[in-house]
This record gives sequence, C-alpha cells and structure tokens, in this order.
Amino acid sequence: MPPSESPLHVVHAVCSHDCPDSCAVLVSVDTNGRAQKIAGDPDHPVTRGFLCGKVAQYLERVYSPDRLLYPMRRRAGIAKGPLPSGREAESFERITWDEALDTIAQRLASIAEKHGPESVLPYSYAGNMGVLGYGSMDRRFFHRLGASQLDRTICATAGGDAFLSVYGRKLGTDTEQFHRARLIIAWGANIHGTSVHLWPQIEEACRNGARLIVIDPYQTRTAKLADWHIAIHPGTDAALALGMMHVIFAEGLQDRAYIDQHTIGAKELAERAKEYPPERVAASTGMTAGEIRTLAREYATTKPAAIRLNYGIQRCENGGTAARAVCMLPLLTGAWKDLGGGLQLSTSGAFRFDSQTLERPDLMYASPLGRSARVVNMARLGHALTELNDPPVKALFVYNSNPGAIAPNQNTVLRGMARPDLFTVVHEQFWTDTADYADIVLPATTFLEHADLQGAYGHYHVQLSDQAIAPLGEARSNVWLFGQLGQRIGFPEACFRDTEQQMLAQALSDSPQETHPQMDGITLDQLRREHSVRLHWAGEPDAPFQPFANGGFGTPSGKGEFYSVALAEQGLDPLPSFKPPKESRHNADRAYPLEFLGRKADNYMNSTFANLAPHQKMEKTRIGKLEIHPDDADRRGIREGDTVEVFNDRGRIRLVAQIHTGVPAGVVASRLNWNKLSAGGSNVNALTSERLTDIGRGPTFYSTLVDVARVPHVG
Ligand code: SF4
Repeated sequence: MPPSESPLHVVHAVCSHDCPDSCAVLVSVDTNGRAQKIAGDPDHPVTRGFLCGKVAQYLERVYSPDRLLYPMRRRAGIAKGPLPSGREAESFERITWDEALDTIAQRLASIAEKHGPESVLPYSYAGNMGVLGYGSMDRRFFHRLGASQLDRTICATAGGDAFLSVYGRKLGTDTEQFHRARLIIAWGANIHGTSVHLWPQIEEACRNGARLIVIDPYQTRTAKLADWHIAIHPGTDAALALGMMHVIFAEGLQDRAYIDQHTIGAKELAERAKEYPPERVAASTGMTAGEIRTLAREYATTKPAAIRLNYGIQRCENGGTAARAVCMLPLLTGAWKDLGGGLQLSTSGAFRFDSQTLERPDLMYASPLGRSARVVNMARLGHALTELNDPPVKALFVYNSNPGAIAPNQNTVLRGMARPDLFTVVHEQFWTDTADYADIVLPATTFLEHADLQGAYGHYHVQLSDQAIAPLGEARSNVWLFGQLGQRIGFPEACFRDTEQQMLAQALSDSPQETHPQMDGITLDQLRREHSVRLHWAGEPDAPFQPFANGGFGTPSGKGEFYSVALAEQGLDPLPSFKPPKESRHNADRAYPLEFLGRKADNYMNSTFANLAPHQKMEKTRIGKLEIHPDDADRRGIREGDTVEVFNDRGRIRLVAQIHTGVPAGVVASRLNWNKLSAGGSNVNALTSERLTDIGRGPTFYSTLVDVARVPHVG
C-alpha cells in the first residue's frame, strides 16, 4: 500500500524518561486512535532511528493491563503498607475524578489551615522530564498553597553544583562530536547501558583508532568492552583525579597557554596536587602508581581526549569534590580546544525555558504564608516524615517519582509513609511501592498521552512532543491535575485555567540574549513544523559547538575556576582534596566490612519498568542477586546460588549470591528493584543512608557499608 494510503498516521513524540538522550520518537497510530508501533526517528541526529531496549517495547507499558486507569480511594480499615503485587486494587475503591479532586482539595485546605501550609509536602522528580510535566502547573499549585518547597537533590545536585563551581554553565562536549575523540574516558559512566545514543559515537571513534578507558569499581557492560577497565575503590575518584593532576603538573603536561588565558587558581591547584603523588593515590584507589602515571600521561598527551562523566561518582560522601576534581582535568590540559575533546556531564544548561512564568514562584507571596516556604531536601524524606517539626509533614503529594523504592534510608521512609495521620496522594501509571501507602491514587498519562516540550541533558536539540493518543481510561496529565486542583481549592489566579497549549507557548516566551542566545528565535510554530530544532550556537549555522574552547564560562570570575572563592565563602575547601567517605574501607573504625553498590538495573530506569515482564526478562540474570567476589564469598562460606542476607544498622535485604570477579574484593553489588518484587520485601535502599554529599546536598547511595551472611537452608 502506498504510504499516503496507510491506515496509520505518524505522530512525533519525545521520550520523557530520565535519560540524557531525550529520543525523538515516531508513534504510528491507527484509525481507531491506538498506537501500533513506536520507533526512533531516523532523521534525528542523535536518536538516529533507534530506541533503547527499555522504550522499544513501550506499547506494552502503555497498554499494560496493570495500568492504573481510574482514581481510587483506600478502603476504610485497610492499613497503609505493602500490598500483594497484582492485587493492590482490592484494597481501594474506584471513585470519580470529581470525588477525588474535591476530597484532595478539601483535605489539603484543612491540613494547611490547621497545621500551616508548609505541612503539605510535594514529592516529585524526573519520572517525567517534559518541561510541563516535570515542573509547571504543579509548582504554581504548591506555591499558591504555601506548601513546603522540595529541594530536588535525589540525582544530580552534587555533580551539577560541582560542575557549576568550575565552569558556571552546565554545558559539555557535544554528543555528536565524540566520534572525533582519540581517547575516551568513561568515568563512572556505563554508556552502553545508560547513554545508548552516545555509544555509536564511541564505536565510531574506536573504529578510527580511539582508546576507551572505563573507570568504575564495577565491571559494567561498557567496562567489558573497554581497552582498559580501571576498577578503583568506590569513592576514591577525587584521589585519582588529583593523582593525575600531580603527574600532569610534575611532567609539564598542562596546557599553559590555555590555563593562562582561561582559568584562575592553577598555581594553588598545582600546590594542592603536590600532596597526591601516585604512590599515595595508589594506596587509596587500589591502582598501582605506574597505572596512575600511565593514565595521566595518556590523557594529557592524546588529542582529542573526551571524558564522559556520569552521576554515579557524585553519589558518595565526597561526591561533589570528586566531580569537581574530574571536571578540572580538561581545563588543565586544554582538551576543550579540540573538536571532540572536553567533558560531558550534562548539556542541560544550554536550554532555557521560562520557569518564572511556568512555575510562578511569586505565588508563594499570595499564599497564606506570604513568604517563601521552607525547603525540604528530598534525599531526607525519612527524616521529613518522622522527625521534621514546625510544622510536621501532614500531607504528602507524590508524582513523577516512587520514593517508597528510590529514596535512601527506606525503612524510615516507609515508617513515615505508613503513618495513619499522613494524608498521601499518589499520581501514577502503576501500583508502585509508593502507591501502596496512598490514601488516594490518581491515574497518570504516559508521554504518548499528553503534549510537552523537552530539552535534554545529553544533546543540544529542543523538541516538541505531540500527543499521540487519547489518555487511557481516565488518566490525566500533571498540568490538568494541578490546574483542576487549583480551581477546586478556589485560587483566583487565571493561571490555573491555562491549557497545555498555552503553557507550551509560555515556556518559550523568554530566552535572554545575554545568557541563552542559542534559544533565541525558537518558536512553538517552528517546533510544530520541524519537531526538533538544534540550538543556535554562534558561528556558521551547522558549525559544531565547542563549549569552553575559547572562554564562555559563567563563573563569577568569568574564567574556569580551579580555585573557587564561592566555595570558600561557604566554608568549603576552595580546592579539591580527597577525604575518604566515613562509610568506606578507608575508615579503620567502620562497623561493617564491605562496600555496597546499590546499582540501577541496566534495563529499568531507576524504578520505572521494574514491574513489566519484558524488562524483567532482560534483567533476569542479575535482578535479585548479590554480586560478590569469590574471596568475600569464601570467607563467609557462601556458594553460588545461596540465599544471603545483606545488612547494616539501617536494614537487611535478602538476595541470591552470584559469585564473580566483576565486582572487586571488598565490594558487593545489587540492583534496584521494587520492594514488593524483592524476596524479603525490601530493596537496596533499606541499606542506604540519608547522609548528604559534601557539595550539593545530594544523597550518598554509594557510601554504604554492609556485611553479608548466608541464610541457613531450612527443611
Ligand atoms: S530511555 Fe533514553 S535511550 Fe531510551 S528511548 Fe528514552 S531517551 Fe531514548
């Protein structure tokens, strides 16, 4: 049949899951409005016609019989807590949207009046990365209510703040230029698993003779494919970066001209780096001094050299400093000057959407508070729900997240969520671990069922995501939900009646020339025509973008800052240093002997997808397993396939031992799953703490000590 007669029409959408790639997605929809096919857009320069394994099967998610499709209210007398998977709905009764909205509006209003509006806590993150879905009408609603503000730290603030302290703008090497690199260091970056559209660039670079070095305590899929896998001890990245700096300075391998022209603080950094000779760094990292010298020389003398840094390294007690130190390396060698060289942590700073108009922080001053509301750190949800006072949290509103599974210090979080006096609303697509604790559950749309705009943190294209299909059942978008709630509760501002389409236009209404000229002139009409638009960087229209090649820093000094006055003013060390995490092998007084990596599953997206059969099938060899080195297993009498308990003072989880050398001795690893799908009913976060990173107030998932014991076989 000729394409013009095809019964399918194609809609351009954008994957809104928490992933750097922000893929351009083509959805083929039949004449009944049902999506029949989903594919990567072959014309998109980063998506290049393919989707990852997680989203290639997305229609099974959208049309899953397990989708939450109607508002539900907990039945009287049913206590909050884990519900049997697949039978959750039995504990709830279906209600209409009118009943749901009225109940929520009344409860939030009365809680705000009785306990103060800050007793209401929103909890959301990047389960939806669309500009509107991530933060727009929801923020208006909670600001106008006077609810506590949420410090959204769970993923990236330590690394983000660290990068900004050096560069002032969150830009990085363009994904589309990595193929030019002759050396690529994947530092805490499992590119093959989590940035799959960067991977073809790496392959092309390697075909052209580039070397791939992976620095990661764990043997990831990417590490298996590397020319050199350096399995350093967890939490020692700052030491390694400082050791590399030591060699670079000592051997005169720094780019003096670039440093003189574009940086401040090199002299002070050189003095600091003297404290980290390779022999000292070797003792911290587990590498040999010779390997550290080889790595430093190879990095400093190969051009172009690109580092793909990912957020894993900043989820340690010293994670901010570690990210800072690694981020300084291309500044020291001038790697930014070479097309294909530099470093990529995130490209998100390139995008500017009009957050003032979308989020309306001014509405806090129209709230009963009449001031900016207190800020609660989402990485300390357990503390917020069990200890915070003045006022205590009395209502929790969860959307775009599953804190029951992903928040650290899980037992405390769940104890808090089980409080009978806590009113909890969960807006979700599925019956997650968090929904089990809800008073009211609301059905949420997937990215096929609403329109949105999207930037990216792994490329430089802004995209419009058109609505491909009608919402399933009675699922509704965040914009609709919070607009309706604002109206029900009686907020007089007209902004609560804005439509999705009006808000899309608002998002693009402001892009100041001085800070974001690359967004200037990009309009909704253009995006409607073209779907995806590359940001306009200075120079020829198709010229490659090279951040920091010739300045462009957004720091107070206008230079790349090895020495940060801003950090010094906060009482922090203005130069990087290595302070071993308390929860690590470096602590002689530690209570538990093994370093635990609660990793994300390659085929899930944090906790998203964990409940779906196709994804479970892809994960079946690793999920529910404790990966342990043969030496550590032998010492405990553990054999392959034994049931083991992993424990510390915060909790214990039950797993099946999987003995191999992909984890170094002294380190054990397991993957994040839903609690209700885990053998002992708890996942890796039963072991993690609420301790925060040195910079950025982030969680320290990877500074976790545990021990392991075999569970005796009974029967
Ligand atoms: S999860 Fe990432 S790689 Fe997969 S489709 Fe979405 S944006 Fe693309």
